[in-house]
Amino acid sequence: MQNFESLKELLLQPKRIVLLPHRNPDGDAIGSTLAMSHYLSQLGHDCEIVAPNDFPKFLKWMDGAKKIVIAEYNPAKARILIEKAEIIFILDFNSISRIDELGEWIREARAPKVMIDHHQEPEEFDFMYSDVTIPATCQMVYNFIDAMNHLDKIDKTIAECIYTGIMTDTGNFRFRNTSATTHRVVAELLERGIEIDKIYNNVFDTQSPTRLKLLGLALDSLKVFPEKRAACMHLTRKQQLEYNSQKGDTEGFVNYGLGINDYVFSAIFIEDQQHNFIKISFRSKGNFDVNSFARKHFNGGGHINAAGGRSDLNMEQTIQKFADLLEEYKEELQEVRI
Ligand code: 5GP
Ligand code: MN
Repeated sequence: MQNFESLKELLLQPKRIVLLPHRNPDGDAIGSTLAMSHYLSQLGHDCEIVAPNDFPKFLKWMDGAKKIVIAEYNPAKARILIEKAEIIFILDFNSISRIDELGEWIREARAPKVMIDHHQEPEEFDFMYSDVTIPATCQMVYNFIDAMNHLDKIDKTIAECIYTGIMTDTGNFRFRNTSATTHRVVAELLERGIEIDKIYNNVFDTQSPTRLKLLGLALDSLKVFPEKRAACMHLTRKQQLEYNSQKGDTEGFVNYGLGINDYVFSAIFIEDQQHNFIKISFRSKGNFDVNSFARKHFNGGGHINAAGGRSDLNMEQTIQKFADLLEEYKEELQEVRI
């Protein structure tokens, strides 16, 4: 962070601080905002987390998660907190447009903004710590606390939040950007007494039976493109309604496509339950860059092997568009080494 020393100085006096994760926050977004908020509270600051919308139950066990102000349910409170904030932390995203109308309030807010994030192409903020090589924002929060010379302040609670973000964003420590440093950080977290079996259980083994049924529907919709080493699945709004799909129920479904022998590209198309668009998740292996694929063709972005986007076409047209694009990418996909 370029002007880290002046941020350090700002943090010397107790401040009202608001921390924000991105829309549809995941384990890394919730883990990093909670970890940072616990840490800053220890320094005497008055912290509130404002999330643009609600997040799944499997992230609500973390200490403080239930106190997060959810802007879609409580916009008045969210707005006042943002207006009155003296510092705003933006974690696990780097573009104000990812938080919809909340973004406007952030733009208007007087508070200096601190961004800590590992996505590509960040916007400009007053204080920025951006590194696309780090697999999780939570690992960057650890680095931030380290740079503050405060590793001793990482207690079991903070360690749990940081671990959750690293575990989920690295796909349980299997993505290529999971480095030796990541494991060293995790070793330090284990020294704080975290129970990794409990954390795994809380995140992954608390599924509802309906989630498994939805997974069945998604798998049943599987389309394969063997020549392109690609697969896709979809879920309609009607199917989700029928199974009473809850937020987060479809998390991770897209990964199944990558489980097919030699496949390197997977997509899932999910009709939004409230709005008239299709939310898309992309996953890939090796050097096939789904971030630029999502950016170029589906108004989205993300990381090289995990990205998302959206489509305003109907389901059939969206899948057709995907299939047509695969033709264009055929050679590139065939050349991916795994
Ligand atoms: P997921 O498929 O789990 O929703 O998202 C995978 C990754 O892509 C995450 O890092 C997420 O932040 C990013 N991502 C998902 N949807 C979008 C989008 O619409 N726009 C951008 N820029 N990034 C997205
Ligand atoms: Mn992340």
